[in-house]
Amino acid sequence: MKLPSFDYACPATVAEAVALLASHGGDAKPLAGGQSLVPMLAFRLASPALIVDLRKLDELRHIRIAEDGVALGAMVRWRDILEHSPLRRAHPLLVMAVEHVAHYQVRNRGTVGGSIAHADPAAELPGIAVTCEAKIVALGKSGSRVIDAADFFRGPLMTALKPDEIVSEIRFPAWPRQRRFGFREFARRRGDFALAAAAVLFDASGEKFRNVRVGAVGVADAPLRLVAVERLLEDSEIGEAAIAKAEKTAAAAFDPADDIHASGAYRKTLIGVMVERALRDAIHRADGSGCR
Ligand SMILES: Cc1cc2nc3c(=O)[nH]c(=O)nc-3n(C[C@H](O)[C@H](O)[C@H](O)COP(=O)(O)OP(=O)(O)OC[C@H]3O[C@@H](n4cnc5c(N)ncnc54)[C@H](O)[C@@H]3O)c2cc1C
Repeated sequence: MKLPSFDYACPATVAEAVALLASHGGDAKPLAGGQSLVPMLAFRLASPALIVDLRKLDELRHIRIAEDGVALGAMVRWRDILEHSPLRRAHPLLVMAVEHVAHYQVRNRGTVGGSIAHADPAAELPGIAVTCEAKIVALGKSGSRVIDAADFFRGPLMTALKPDEIVSEIRFPAWPRQRRFGFREFARRRGDFALAAAAVLFDASGEKFRNVRVGAVGVADAPLRLVAVERLLEDSEIGEAAIAKAEKTAAAAFDPADDIHASGAYRKTLIGVMVERALRDAIHRADGSGCR
């Protein structure tokens, strides 16, 4: 299908990009890897007057690892993440989840900022951002602001971004070396969007769960944390009884609607199973090592 007509700009600086977006009100859109925007244009789900191509903005391509956490520039691609060995050690859960994103070709172009701004409820990175309490940096004509991931994703393809803002960076809090983690996803084919996925992390203290975070993807309008599961696990004994309760509680937390991909009842069962498997992986990944 042919794209609708639009004006095109390819600014050399972030400031220029933001000024272009601001000058068009809500009628301009940034272009990153194009893996979601181009199909949206083709299907006329988006029809902006101006496309602002971000590809020259090398200032958004950084992967920074520091004591206080990891920062990824918006133009970092999936491929950059998967090929970055220090990142695999600095945030193994993030890398493990990105391994499930799409296919080789899409991973060569798709970006962190594009995924965050597109806000597909079945996308892995928004789910990891919410589970890990990441922060999203937005830049607009009135400066920059930092938004908690929990407040950023508002619904399917809906975010807290204003029309003149771009995502410039996502920041993940520091990852303790001995933290345990798991990520499980079920998709019809490897690389497809998740029918359901679960992310789990915790710090073991003796035989007890501490600092538990459990996130779910693909089962609601936006990624979210399973607070009921976190509460029941926190301070409880690590073992089979806790795993069984977590599975049941996760499934009970949702009532997904039927859609063309799966019935709601199937998805409800599936999220319980994904939580159970991710939790089991986390328990057995006792050495805190990377994810391969
Ligand atoms: C076949 C296929 C399979 C896929 N499977 C998966 C999958 O399993 N999991 C998954 O998570 N994704 C999947 N995707 C989506 C893919 O990961 C996209 O790359 C991603 O969702 C969007 O990134 P992008 O860089 O291509 O953004 P684009 O397509 O360029 O942009 C997407 C949206 O974000 C906006 N945008 C882009 N960058 C910014 C920015 N910095 N600031 C503000 N707004 C911005 C655009 O205006 C547009 O609205 C798949 C895509 C395809 C084509």
